Amino acid sequence: MLPEKVLTTAAQEMLDYQGTGESVMEMSHRSKEYQAIIDICEELFRQVLSIPKNYKVLFLQGGASSQFAMIPLNLMNKSGKADFVITGQWATKAYQEAQKFGECKAVASSKDKTFTYIPELDADTFTKDADYFHICYNNTIYGTRFHDLPQTGNIPLVADMSSCILSEPLDVSRFGMIYAGAQKNMGPAGLTVVVIREDLLGNARPECPTMFNYQIHADNGSMYNTPPTYAIYIFKLVLEWLINDIGGLDSMKAVNEEKAGLLYTFLDQSNLFKGTVEKKDRSLMNIPFVTGSDELDAKFVKEASANGFINLKGHRTVGGMRASIYNAMPVEGVRRLVEFMKEFERKNG
Ligand SMILES: *Cc1c(COP(=O)(O)O)cnc(C)c1O
Repeated sequence: MLPEKVLTTAAQEMLDYQGTGESVMEMSHRSKEYQAIIDICEELFRQVLSIPKNYKVLFLQGGASSQFAMIPLNLMNKSGKADFVITGQWATKAYQEAQKFGECKAVASSKDKTFTYIPELDADTFTKDADYFHICYNNTIYGTRFHDLPQTGNIPLVADMSSCILSEPLDVSRFGMIYAGAQKNMGPAGLTVVVIREDLLGNARPECPTMFNYQIHADNGSMYNTPPTYAIYIFKLVLEWLINDIGGLDSMKAVNEEKAGLLYTFLDQSNLFKGTVEKKDRSLMNIPFVTGSDELDAKFVKEASANGFINLKGHRTVGGMRASIYNAMPVEGVRRLVEFMKEFERKNG
C-alpha cells in the first residue's frame, strides 16, 4: 500500500508540478526543479532516519536483488571473505550471489525449521578477517526479524532492510551499510536506496562495472545517469507523510506495534488460526499464519479476497496466509481483518 494522501497529491500534481507546467515524469533530471525534488527527498530521509553525516545516501535502480552482487563487488576487497546468516530466501540469495566473488561462510541458518526463527549466533564462529557480515533484518516471506544485532566488532554489518525500513527508529551507526528496495515501505518499485558509511567507498574490485560502483553514484549525487526520477518523487511524498501526518519514526513504530499486536493477540487465542513463527522472533511487518488444513487455508484466502482483503496468500514455499502490514496499512485495515478472521473461525472452526 501507499498512503492515500500520497496518491492524491501525486494525482493533483500529475499534469503540472507546482506551476512548472510539466509533470515530474517529463522533467529533465538535470533541471533545477528536479534537483530540488531529489535534494529534499534525501534531506527528509536523513532527517527521519537520523542518518549520521559520515554516511552517503544513494538512489539506485536494479532492486535489492542487484545489491546481492553490488555488495561483494564493492566491499569484498581485502580478504575476499564474508559471513552470512541464512534466515530465508533473500538471505540465501545474497549468500549465493556473493559466492561468485569470494569465500562466503554461512555462520548460522534456520533452514532446518523452514526459517521460522532467527538462529542463535556465536561470535567465535565469525570469520575474523571478513570484509563484511550480511543479514536480512526482516524476513519478508517467513515473518521473522532480528531483535538483537550480531556483535561483529570492526567487521562492517550489512543489512537488507527492504521490508522493514522506516517502520521504526534505527541506529544507523551500528551498520556499515543498509539497503532496501523501495516498493515495500518507501514508494513504488524501481528505486533502491543504499545508505553506506563513507570509509567503505572507493575500494571496489577492479572488475566492478561503473554502474555498480557505489563511489561513482556517491560522487555524482545519484545522477551519474538518469535516476528513477518519478519513484524518488513519490518517496519524497511518502517521507512528507511520515513526518507531517504520522509524526516520525517513534510514532510510526507505535502504529505498527498496535497493528501487529492486534493480529498476534488474536492468533495467540484463536482455536483455528495460528502464527507460524517463534514468538521472540516475530516481525512487525509480515505475519504468516495457517489453519492447519490446506483446504481451509484456500477457502479463507478465497473468501477474504471476495471481501476485499487481497494479497493474503502465503508465499508458495510456506503455504497458508501472510498479512503484510507495511507502514501505509491503517490500523483500521488490521482491525477489519481480525473481525473477518473471527467470523471465519466461528463458521469453520
Ligand atoms: C522484496 C525483497 C527483496 C527483493 O527486492 P527487489 O527490489 O525485487 O530485488 C529482497 N530482500 C528482501 C528482504 C525483500 O523483502
